[in-house]
Amino acid sequence: MSALTGLLSNIQMYSTKDGPGIRTTAFFTGCNLRCLWCSNPEAMYPGRKIMYYASRCHRCGACVAHGADGSVIFGDEGCIIDREKCTNLFEMPDICYYDAYEEKGMEMTVLQLYGKLVRDRAFYENSGGGVTFSGGECLLQREFLYEVMKLLKQDHIHMALDTAGLWDFEAVYPALELADLILYDIKAWDRKVHKQCTGTDNQIILDNAKKLADMGKEMIVRMVIVPGLNDGRADIERRLEFVKSLGSCVRQVDILRYHKLGLGKYKALGLPYPLEEVPECPEEAAKDAVRLAGRMGLKATVGG
Ligand code: SF4
Ligand code: SF4
Repeated sequence: MSALTGLLSNIQMYSTKDGPGIRTTAFFTGCNLRCLWCSNPEAMYPGRKIMYYASRCHRCGACVAHGADGSVIFGDEGCIIDREKCTNLFEMPDICYYDAYEEKGMEMTVLQLYGKLVRDRAFYENSGGGVTFSGGECLLQREFLYEVMKLLKQDHIHMALDTAGLWDFEAVYPALELADLILYDIKAWDRKVHKQCTGTDNQIILDNAKKLADMGKEMIVRMVIVPGLNDGRADIERRLEFVKSLGSCVRQVDILRYHKLGLGKYKALGLPYPLEEVPECPEEAAKDAVRLAGRMGLKATVGG
């Protein structure tokens, strides 16, 4: 059996938002995009991390006493951690009785992950669900992912890949071939806007979408709308026209409203939230995009 290991940030059971039916979603750690609106910063950045939730702190003082070199002090709301100075930060989940510290990032073998994912097989079968690999960008750990997918394929479990599409097509082809469904993001049409919002150009992403369509791979395309960033009418229209050009392999377009649900996670990681000043996407803007998609003959919904 493979000695490969993968790094995951979370495994979400009973998910109904990451593809059809009841699913288990495995969130892989590490991403090659840096979307300003990313709501999973713990999965976007590679490696293990410690999240700190001040709301759970009972001010017992244990972590303050334990923090290396005075790196943890009391603040008005919970503790203030100097993450550079705190060389023993990863010991804190064991030190705090109140679970204010949480470690994110678990290394798993192929069999360990397979064992977790196969557990809810009966739910998948009864609901038309399955397993979704998400992230971060799950295809960055393509060899590990492929080994897990091979085992699930033998069990005839439906598999979806949730991906942002920035990868070498040939390199990830074996995993794409095993997938039953691709959840694919088109984040902006305008190259400059895309680069500004995600840190990268969109050419490879658009090319890979075409290649998936040529493969005949079933896709759900997701388009996030973020006020003032990628919500221009022309950009939304061009994105939808492109999706239309992919043909019948696109079974649906999900218009995703930008929300601030990830804000607490940035705080817990001690990171600044990039879109502090940007409002959430109004429902009407998403509905407009759905209507536009409908006029183009695309099936579209708000949400995912
Ligand atoms: S150990 Fe936990 S409860 Fe105690 S001060 Fe630190 S964060 Fe607060
Ligand atoms: S592609 Fe997804 S996981 Fe990666 S930065 Fe963007 S929103 Fe976050």
